[in-house]
Amino acid sequence: MIDRLRALGAAARQALEEAQSESEVEEARIAFLGRKSELNRISRGLGTLSDGERREVGRAVNQLKSDLKGLLEEAKSRVASGTGGAGGLDVTLPGRRPWVGRKHPLTRTLDRLEEIFLGLGFEVAVGPHIEDDFHNFEALNFPADHPARDEHDTFYVEGGGLLRTHTSPVQIRVMQTRKPPIRIVAPGRVFRNETPDASHGSEFFQLEGLYVDRDVRFGELKGVLIKFLRELYGENVGVRLRPGFFPFTEPSAEVDVECRICRGRGCGVCKGTGWVELLGSGMVDPRVFAAVGYDPDEVSGYAFGLGIDRIAMMMTGVDDIRLFLENDLRFLRQI
Ligand SMILES: [Zn+2]
Repeated sequence: MIDRLRALGAAARQALEEAQSESEVEEARIAFLGRKSELNRISRGLGTLSDGERREVGRAVNQLKSDLKGLLEEAKSRVASGTGGAGGLDVTLPGRRPWVGRKHPLTRTLDRLEEIFLGLGFEVAVGPHIEDDFHNFEALNFPADHPARDEHDTFYVEGGGLLRTHTSPVQIRVMQTRKPPIRIVAPGRVFRNETPDASHGSEFFQLEGLYVDRDVRFGELKGVLIKFLRELYGENVGVRLRPGFFPFTEPSAEVDVECRICRGRGCGVCKGTGWVELLGSGMVDPRVFAAVGYDPDEVSGYAFGLGIDRIAMMMTGVDDIRLFLENDLRFLRQI
């Protein structure tokens, strides 16, 4: 009897392993575990056996039933998932396309800006996101009680650090470690304690420029910025400089470009003025030179800064700055 059960088990195992479809699995189930199966007949006949035989055969029957139920489940899931040999493989299906990545629109914009400034003789410098009060404020002529600090509310870190509110501290770090001439651009992530809306985020990206040497003139600043904007937007772009205020430059100028949407006629994006503010700039304040140990009578220089997100918005037509950092592929794939 035990030998017979073993033979039944081997036959059932083979039938289940070779089954290629749900109906074949079901056929094997009926043949080996069904009401009319030999296993069932043996099971029902246990009562006619002697005590010793009944115990031994009963145990073997139960073991075989449980083994076959396991094999049955395996066979069912195998045919359902289509991995049942050639029968489950449809060779006519198209292949799976590999995922092809590409650069984020902010990275593409930054690459373009760096390319232009490298062509103008600048090199790229970087600095830490967590700054100290000296590099982010004091050295840039924002004393502790200066009202300009109100616009630079930020996030403070335990132990006295803060998340930098602009890329200007990189100027300070470079000047502290090097002697003029210095000609750098410093791109990077900056932080402000802002309520996010379509044109403000608590994280955004800036690019800072600094040139320090002997006898640097305002005319050179103007020339470099006009050259940069023409490279970015084409030879015919309108550019204007307006007087502005920044603690670390004197004199200072805001730089506007002709609105790319309406070409200067006036629209919602430029609030009807025909101009969009793009850069802040100016001649480096002598106090900044003094803070890094330069002699303001010996050296002079200019600095400028721009928002990378804003330029990306103008280049791509995206009208909400928050979309750039949500990492939604449905959005990113479109631009
Ligand atoms: Zn406009």
